[in-house]
Amino acid sequence: MNTVEDLHVHTRISKDSKEDPEKYIVKAIERGIEYLGFSDHIDLDPKDKDFGFYRYEDARQSYIELKEKYNNGLSLFFATEVTYQNNIEKSIQNNLQGRPYDYIIGSIHRLEGYTISSPRGIQFFNGKDETTAYSIYFEEVDRMINTGFFDIVGHFDVLKRYGNSIYGTFNANRFEAIIVPLMKKIVAKNLVIEINSSGFRHKLSEQYPSNDILRMYRDCGGREITIGSDAHNASQFGVYMEETLKNALSIFDFNIVVFAQRKKIKLSRLSELLSKNKVGR
Ligand SMILES: [Zn+2]
Ligand SMILES: [Zn+2]
Repeated sequence: MNTVEDLHVHTRISKDSKEDPEKYIVKAIERGIEYLGFSDHIDLDPKDKDFGFYRYEDARQSYIELKEKYNNGLSLFFATEVTYQNNIEKSIQNNLQGRPYDYIIGSIHRLEGYTISSPRGIQFFNGKDETTAYSIYFEEVDRMINTGFFDIVGHFDVLKRYGNSIYGTFNANRFEAIIVPLMKKIVAKNLVIEINSSGFRHKLSEQYPSNDILRMYRDCGGREITIGSDAHNASQFGVYMEETLKNALSIFDFNIVVFAQRKKIKLSRLSELLSKNKVGR
């Protein structure tokens, strides 16, 4: 199933991807995806093995060339997904200063020196019960939201990617007292939650964030989402979009938005997207 946008894809500018950005563009045009954003990783913790890989000038140059080549096929966006860590906040701020990103996704990938979004970081869970592990995670999400550096909160409950195999399927309702205040803050600060289909690809049988979290977002007044597949190669692009978007629509008919030069633009509602697909667009 097609979506109007995919604002979360990785290319060879990211350490964990080797993909040629043009491949995403070709697929997007084939599928009628009108808005495509490149969100390569910025990792600024000197202790992280991905540290220092991102090259801003290369990212920018590649984007400019592609934008010239595909000047009327679709809208391309220059973005980044920053690994937020409280202990390197100043360095993140300095790094983003003056760079003309269309939008910036803030994501937690590392806690206590472990890369929790990778099998190599699984030791983070050692000696912690579920409440402790998720509380540490959501406290870091809170600090990330407070910075004001970001437009989009990436994969809001990503700790479940490996947490599920240790504690069983993540049940957000158990953490409602922590999550609801985060949702209120996200809405008050005009941030947007990303609906990220890669949860299905990670064999979790749901997207990030879960339907329960989307419900909390809705109940706190959250009306806007962005959509991303978090593809690291073109074969992962747009995968599991149908399941993801239907889940989101089952909670609320959210407005799909995009950011251009950090300004939010409303595109359409989820229901419009799903009805377009029904008529075989
Ligand atoms: Zn991420
Ligand atoms: Zn990503």
